[in-house]
Amino acid sequence: MADFDVDLFVIGGGSGGVRAARVAAQGGATVALAEESRMGGTCVIRGCVPKKLMVFASAAPAALQEARAYGWEVSEGSFDWPAFRTRLDTELDRLEGIYRSGLQNAGVTIHDQRAVLIDPHTIELADGTRVTARHILVATGGRPFRPEMAGAEHAMVSDDLFHMEALPKSMLIIGGGFIACEFAGILAGLGVEVTQYYRGEQILRGFDGEARGLVADGMRHRGVNLHCGTTLLEAEEREGGIWVKGTNGDEAVYERVLFATGRVPNTAGIGLEEAGVRLGRHGEILVNEYSQTDVPSIYAIGDVTGRINLTPVAIREGMAFVETVFNANPTPVDHELVPSAVYTQPELGTVGLTEEEATTRGPVEVYATSFRPMRSAFAGSPERVMMKLIVDAETRIVLGCHIVAPEAGEMIQLAAIAVKMGATKEQFDQTCAVHPTMAEELVTMRVPARRVG
Ligand code: NDP
Repeated sequence: MADFDVDLFVIGGGSGGVRAARVAAQGGATVALAEESRMGGTCVIRGCVPKKLMVFASAAPAALQEARAYGWEVSEGSFDWPAFRTRLDTELDRLEGIYRSGLQNAGVTIHDQRAVLIDPHTIELADGTRVTARHILVATGGRPFRPEMAGAEHAMVSDDLFHMEALPKSMLIIGGGFIACEFAGILAGLGVEVTQYYRGEQILRGFDGEARGLVADGMRHRGVNLHCGTTLLEAEEREGGIWVKGTNGDEAVYERVLFATGRVPNTAGIGLEEAGVRLGRHGEILVNEYSQTDVPSIYAIGDVTGRINLTPVAIREGMAFVETVFNANPTPVDHELVPSAVYTQPELGTVGLTEEEATTRGPVEVYATSFRPMRSAFAGSPERVMMKLIVDAETRIVLGCHIVAPEAGEMIQLAAIAVKMGATKEQFDQTCAVHPTMAEELVTMRVPARRVG
């Protein structure tokens, strides 16, 4: 067998790549990893982590308002963006350090530079060094996609949000997906006047219809000026910001415009096609259930494969890769019933089939309740939460669970265990309620709201 410099070369230091490199090295493999930007990737540096900290920051005004309703004398105060950003930067430095030291302690050789493929076993680093590897793992993630449309040259993308010198007075957000909706809520909470244009009928395409409606209502209630069926017609730089004309006829000047119009895999210019790796229609690396590409020595995990673009999924793909390749235990990646949360305000947690999906497959019973929860109702808020179960009418198995509520992400994580285990509606009902909570409704809904199919 040919000799190689290393057993494994990982391109990309995000959640998936770092985990695979570390675990392979801990198992005794010689491993190198190249990252051209900061260690930690999208999730840690410009995604999940800083975003969630911003969600916490943005929730403070509503919490203060609620505190007043509960009898506290508190004044509004003001938000100090530079102070928050400094703390955020310190926290991200800390996390980046943990990722780096985890690799170093496991014995992984780190190259802080760009790496490209030369052939199925050779990598070339930006400084010209060549490294040969028995296996190569591509975990280069994705980046924001900026469609060619009016205003694109003036617009910022989500990566830029964390580096703003000051918060703008007003912002127009284009898009209706995860990032657009999460940042609409965050920025509105921080005091920015937010307008959002979404080209479709309702935001968060692909999620349960009722849940989407309730999230949209909640976002509007919290001050997001949301326009569906609308997109940019014209845009130009003017005094004070960017003048925009929408397809709804509205004209206004916004200090900033954010394009949250999706993400694309980072596959350009890294020698993939030259090495024989096949790409899909959106530039994603095509892999089999073991994350192996058409080139047997090259594997790919995470967002660059465009399967399910979530950090915990990339991590599982990385672990399964190590198990398959280094532990002689072929482990396919399980992409079924992956729960997720959208950190909108109100939050959305989901696992399994939506009502719309389930009804195309067979008869279902839909159990749903929407109500004003005790805590915010006491404070006079009209906001509603929703708990919903989609049940197979024949097998009684819970096919989907959808929650719109504060901390819905925390709730869906727990409900997802039961759904993943294949629990029936009757098994949900056998579980005693925890009172008084919002989530108790998941085990106390006795009569279906409707039967479909
Ligand atoms: P999404 O695919 O979720 O949303 C993209 C949005 O942009 C959609 O509303 C889409 O509309 C719209 N859009 C696309 N092209 C155009 C165009 N040319 N003109 C106008 N609108 C357009 O992408 P995101 O960037 O928000 O998120 C990327 C991925 O990252 C997510 O799919 C998710 O996997 C992950 N993510 C997960 C988070 C979480 O777990 N909480 C948070 C953030 C990201 P349409 O619906 O009509 O196609």
